[in-house]
Amino acid sequence: MSIELAGMSGATAVADGGWSTILWTRGLSIEQPAERANLTAPDLVQTLARDYLDAGAIFLTTNTFGANRWNFARAGVDTSAAEVCGRGADIARQAVGDRNAVVAGSIGPSGKILAVQEVAEDELREEFTAIAEALVEGGADVLVLETFSELREILIALDAVKAATGRPVIASMSFDSGPQRARTMMGATAAECGKALDDAGADVIGCNCGATLPAVVALRAATQRPLWVRPNAGAPELVDGRPVWRRDPVAFVADVMPLIAAGANIVGGCCGAGPEHIAKLAAAVRRRGA
Ligand SMILES: [Zn+2]
Repeated sequence: MSIELAGMSGATAVADGGWSTILWTRGLSIEQPAERANLTAPDLVQTLARDYLDAGAIFLTTNTFGANRWNFARAGVDTSAAEVCGRGADIARQAVGDRNAVVAGSIGPSGKILAVQEVAEDELREEFTAIAEALVEGGADVLVLETFSELREILIALDAVKAATGRPVIASMSFDSGPQRARTMMGATAAECGKALDDAGADVIGCNCGATLPAVVALRAATQRPLWVRPNAGAPELVDGRPVWRRDPVAFVADVMPLIAAGANIVGGCCGAGPEHIAKLAAAVRRRGA
């Protein structure tokens, strides 16, 4: 299925939910990056992929969000991020099989801040290029840059990934700061990010993790492109020193429906939103007839 069919035909499309937070609830150790499970526990990853597809997701993201040299170095993991990405895309591709679904290769931010020179632009370009190429080689149809909070970083990633692969790119940032909860952690507004991503040629623009109603309203006003919106399952609560997200599926759907009314075209979940959340959301979208 093409991204145009899924996202631009006027119908609302459903994407999957979170990855690392759900793999942890299914027994994956939190001691290592969840993306390494693509190599160490591929069956666990593929089962969750199938569960998302069975729940009704037609956009399946890969379990590769945090796979990059910076996160792996921080975790003391001596594994190739490109290898983890290639395997992640391959697992998703196999899970999709003959189904009509889009494999979206997930790329997260570096975790470094460009504005204070923690990382160089060339270094970002090189890593995003390597990751994107591995994802496409493994079977990704499109790429999704997600949970970015620094506009300059996502613009570099967008440019590098487009140049390297020529694939459609979904550019999704996190907005949950400021009085309106429509700014990134770095202070950029959803309005200015939406316009900048549109000008830079992102095929789909969105918000995830921080995906508030004011952010969606501002993005909708800033661009005509399809909007990708994947909120968390509520706000995190600290349990034994760890954040957990536990909004139940019915309450989660009640959170998402106003986002569709505000103009979201592709909706799914992020942290704490699992297959049960996506199944309820898919049913609500079908009922809505949108
Ligand atoms: Zn999240």
